[in-house]
Amino acid sequence: MSAIPAADSFDVAVVGGGPAGATAATHLAQQGHSVLLLDRPGNIKPCGGAIPPRAVQDFEIPDELLCTSVNAARMISPSDRRVDMPIQDGYVGMVDRAVFDEWLRERAAREGAEWRHGTFEELVEADGGVQLTYAEGRGGRDAVRHRVWARTVIGADGAKSAVGRQAVPGSTDIPHVAAYHEIIEVPAETDDRFHPERADVYYRGSISPDFYGWIFPHGETASIGAGSAVKGFSLRSAVDELRREADLTEARTLRREGAPIPMEPLQRWDNGRNVVLAGDAAGTVAPASGEGIYYAMVGGQRAAEAAEKALHSGDGAALAEAERAFTREHGQVFRVLGAMQRFWYANDKRRERFVRICTDPDVQSLTWDAYMNKRLVRARPLAHMRIFFKNIAHLTGLAPA
Ligand SMILES: Cc1cc2nc3c(=O)[nH]c(=O)nc-3n(C[C@H](O)[C@H](O)[C@H](O)COP(=O)(O)OP(=O)(O)OC[C@H]3O[C@@H](n4cnc5c(N)ncnc54)[C@H](O)[C@@H]3O)c2cc1C
Repeated sequence: MSAIPAADSFDVAVVGGGPAGATAATHLAQQGHSVLLLDRPGNIKPCGGAIPPRAVQDFEIPDELLCTSVNAARMISPSDRRVDMPIQDGYVGMVDRAVFDEWLRERAAREGAEWRHGTFEELVEADGGVQLTYAEGRGGRDAVRHRVWARTVIGADGAKSAVGRQAVPGSTDIPHVAAYHEIIEVPAETDDRFHPERADVYYRGSISPDFYGWIFPHGETASIGAGSAVKGFSLRSAVDELRREADLTEARTLRREGAPIPMEPLQRWDNGRNVVLAGDAAGTVAPASGEGIYYAMVGGQRAAEAAEKALHSGDGAALAEAERAFTREHGQVFRVLGAMQRFWYANDKRRERFVRICTDPDVQSLTWDAYMNKRLVRARPLAHMRIFFKNIAHLTGLAPA
């Protein structure tokens, strides 16, 4: 293995330059480590692009990266009840992933990470670390192959991670929702069925039998999409339906694309020696909402901190701290959202009730506070009590539908 030159040997190799990998690489480079950031070029991540203010604050995202800020959500029920949820004192930021991800990678490079365009292929443990093989660019049979060596690898190569498959047992068992969206050009004139500062969320079995459909504005464009884990369910037909609903059928379609969304975090992100996963590779997308950008960045940060501990102590067991830290911070929210998804998204009757409880001002303000600030609010115990009893009434069918 000594054939690998020093210029190709790193403290940490980060595979994947999305929100998780770029955040990890930035942190490690800032701490003075030698870091490789390997990212397959030429892909725009299919994504609705909604991020909370907490992501903007915690990860120092400049305002110009927000292509728009949303100030309300509209929840739409199976019977077409429309409940508007205005945001008090806050917003949902919308990012264009082509611009956002590139900026994150550039920041990592500015901080000192070595950013290479390549496609990870294989890893083997060697000389107390890991030897990685990657192909230049997007790979393919004729692409030039390179070998590098790193003491630690962070696998941030997204859902169905190749690093995870090769190094972390259990990572191939993460359940997924298939998601599909179309990016359209917003026409010059729209009516109230689409608003450039409102996110519309459709809860209806014909749009998704187990998840939801969305229309998210991105300034001059919009993302119209749906997700489902049900095999054979036509997400394209669902998006056609959404476009008809919003009178956007004739709008110009710029891109059609899909990708899996992981629905359950791994219980173990690392191999106990020299590989740790982060972001979608570790399954950290919030159930019920499908929110993954912020959690990928947090996961990237925690993986980087755990990698640092492992580097300093020489003990790969420290990598397990990434999962533990993430679960301490967000495990409870993920459990609550998982239970909500299983219950409220089960059928149209329940979806109808779910949208109905969104009319409640307490539900609205606590939902937004929890989304924007990423904490379960303890400041208003009475409101919590009221919501708790209302939820029980709905869950048990005692409340009128
Ligand atoms: C249709 C859809 C809509 C969504 N909407 C939202 C939303 O509105 N808000 C939200 O918060 N989340 C949303 N999500 C989820 C969110 O996109 C992900 O959770 C988030 O992108 C995860 O970040 P990541 O860095 O872990 O992975 P990714 O963003 O997937 O990044 C992985 C990176 O690894 C690279 N890579 C992959 N394989 C290799 C390889 N072999 N070698 C080298 N590089 C590789 C890729 O090119 C990519 O740059 C949505 C997802 C989908 C599919």
